[in-house]
Amino acid sequence: MTRFISIIFLAGLCLPVHSQETFMRTLKLMGSRYEISVVAGSQDEGDRYIDLAVEEISRIEKSISSWDPDSQTSQINRNAGIGPVKVDAELFGLVERALQISKITDGAFDISYAAMDRIWVFDGSLQQMPDEETIRQSVAKVGYENVVLDKAEQTIFLQLPGMKIGFGAIGKGYSADRAKALLMEAGVAGGMINASGDLNCWGEKHDGTPWMVGITNPLNKNKVFGWFPIQNSAVVTSGDYEKFVVLNGKRYAHIIDPRTGYPSSGLASVSIFAPRAELADALATSVFVMGIEAGINLIDQLKGIECIVVDDQGKVYDSKNIERNEHEMEIAGWQK
Ligand code: ADP
Ligand code: MG
Repeated sequence: MTRFISIIFLAGLCLPVHSQETFMRTLKLMGSRYEISVVAGSQDEGDRYIDLAVEEISRIEKSISSWDPDSQTSQINRNAGIGPVKVDAELFGLVERALQISKITDGAFDISYAAMDRIWVFDGSLQQMPDEETIRQSVAKVGYENVVLDKAEQTIFLQLPGMKIGFGAIGKGYSADRAKALLMEAGVAGGMINASGDLNCWGEKHDGTPWMVGITNPLNKNKVFGWFPIQNSAVVTSGDYEKFVVLNGKRYAHIIDPRTGYPSSGLASVSIFAPRAELADALATSVFVMGIEAGINLIDQLKGIECIVVDDQGKVYDSKNIERNEHEMEIAGWQK
């Protein structure tokens, strides 16, 4: 009898109590394709976790959307040149951090770029270059120095009439960070939140292997030019292959230089590796505007952050400490 019991006991030790699996859902949130993966013991449990993440991302979208007239962001924009708007601590913090990035990038990153989204439209309707005067007038309403924060009152004021802020270059990354934090709190052992190439992950897949991120070959978006294992960190890619416009034979990305008012050109993609997706998202956009030399120089000065930049000729550049799989790059026909 004792022997029988101990055999059962041993068998029990060998079998995992719950066998874990990785569950994934793809859906559209914040106007982008999100892929949410979690490690869970059953489909039901996985669904519950993914629902939590979806709720969190939708909640953030409500606050930062410039399309929704009821969002806090729209209220700030409506009151440009009129008066400060009281916002919740979360939005205040996001704007505060965005302004810090504007400072370290000398204004290459600027959430007040949004005053220009009336003239640079990347939905295919833009047929010719906006004229210089129009660009000059709208760039006059861009400038992070005119975003005034009052910490004590928790208000945000856009000083110039016609100013506007938008979170297109930082919101997806922020949402990935928040969804990750929430699921970790809920006890999810591993997962990945991928917002169209802006991603953050934690733990491992159910089989103990690390999460892998593939960086798209910007010159052929159906091909991946490198796979990287990532651990408890974020990777964000900004590319000109999703949204762009060709005017007079020149290709312009949907990333605008807030200082000139013209879209940036010359780079095909920028990938940033960082501890948090919010920062990576903002820096990917920044490097796009700053260009190869100044951009990589900035990344080299930031601890724990690396980047890979591809120019429009397919030439690859990277930051000091990155380890790339040279072999795979060769297969994809890349030149260093
Ligand atoms: P992706 O769309 O590939 O995620 P980004 O994260 O770089 O690319 O975000 C680009 C979006 O950010 C643009 O569509 C626009 O909404 C906004 N944006 C464009 N230029 C700037 C800029 N210089 N600073 C901040 N936001 C910008
Ligand atoms: Mg970005």
